[in-house]
Amino acid sequence: MFSGRKIVLSEEDLPTKWYNILPDLPEKLPPPLHPETKEPLRPEDLEPIFAKELIKQEVSEERWIKIPEEVREVYKLWRPTPLIRAKRLEEALKTPARIYYKYEGVSPPGSHKPNTAVAQAYYNAKEGIERLTTETGAGQWGSALSFATKLFDIKCTVYMVKISYKQKPYRRILMETWGGEVIPSPSDRTKSGRTILERDPDNPGSLGIAISEAVEDAATHENTKYALGSVLNHVLMHQTVIGLEVMKQLEIAEEKPDVMIGCVGGGSNFAGFCYPFVRDAMKGEVKLIAVEPEACPTFTKGDYRYDFGDTAGLTPLLKMFTLGHDFIPPPIHAGGLRYHGDAPTMSLLVKHGIIEAKAVKQIPTFEAGVLFARTEGIVPAPESNHAIRVAIDEALKAKESGEEKVIVFNLSGHGYFDLSAYDDFLYGRLRNA
Ligand SMILES: *Cc1c(COP(=O)(O)O)cnc(C)c1O
Repeated sequence: MFSGRKIVLSEEDLPTKWYNILPDLPEKLPPPLHPETKEPLRPEDLEPIFAKELIKQEVSEERWIKIPEEVREVYKLWRPTPLIRAKRLEEALKTPARIYYKYEGVSPPGSHKPNTAVAQAYYNAKEGIERLTTETGAGQWGSALSFATKLFDIKCTVYMVKISYKQKPYRRILMETWGGEVIPSPSDRTKSGRTILERDPDNPGSLGIAISEAVEDAATHENTKYALGSVLNHVLMHQTVIGLEVMKQLEIAEEKPDVMIGCVGGGSNFAGFCYPFVRDAMKGEVKLIAVEPEACPTFTKGDYRYDFGDTAGLTPLLKMFTLGHDFIPPPIHAGGLRYHGDAPTMSLLVKHGIIEAKAVKQIPTFEAGVLFARTEGIVPAPESNHAIRVAIDEALKAKESGEEKVIVFNLSGHGYFDLSAYDDFLYGRLRNA
């Protein structure tokens, strides 16, 4: 049994290939549909907004896809990331369970998001693209893309959900420090933004609206493409470096996971962490739990059907769990989890019962995050607190039953730019939505 504190891999252990879940799904993934014709999308329909290589990856049926050396070189700035045994948390809970967390907060922007931002910036730069547009909620994705585009010398325009733009100025400053241009959304830069502002000048924005603006900007400008931070197959695949590292690290620790837990906004950190273990989950060897906020309960209360990825209905229709593309979630602090839909591959796995979904309220997630900070030291992102909440609940269940469970969760990012959310919690201003 592992008695150390953390498992650190060397740079040579950094994965050389990404894992693609498509060939291992229990049924064929329903195809995306064209937003106007409602016919299955042809790859070339995506060319106005995405780099060709990324479209190829989006529909690829190959199980393993080589990570370009240029991308691995950038990954080495912070990868491999550590897998850490949360011993002090175990002791505080008096649980016989062993709790491990994969820490993705060591990247420069402080989350898992650069794992795909770097890959997307690389392929776009290689194809001669000069500017990428995107949306951001809490600012995590926008800062990851601002960082990544700078490394490959392309420009970045970020439409940031207005409520977060106001609540979280430090992320905006971070994006601008890396050279990104940040626009509060809805804005008057695009037709979709102007339409919403005419009806509702005080609209707080949502990820769905910001996506409409970023896609429209890319589609209407030369040499400009769009980058999405979650949901799509290629994005989730880029994130699998997380789970592939975890596999090696657990082998070194001589541990087999009983439960693996991640939070879900669109599904990318969860998928990156868990997809390499899906074949084990299908054999019933490990339980995979996806955690979402009760304020945005896509898996637990949504329907499995075709829906748009954005508010204006410009994106292809995806078969996924959805709360409806016009759903605007309450302004909880876990901005990265305020999305109406979920990744199609993950939706399929939830429908088949291979991934279990749970929804949790906001205050218990902060209670979990503060206990984690007071035992393990790291102040987690409000999104990651959702995973910690359920990891703690599982550890408490193990305490009741006296089982020596191995619980592994993904600490998707740190919360040092979210301290005002902690302030609201500590001073009783947080709503339990
Ligand atoms: C963006 C974000 C999430 C949610 O997005 P996914 O695509 O579901 O991973 C979770 N945690 C952190 C720290 C984030 O930045």
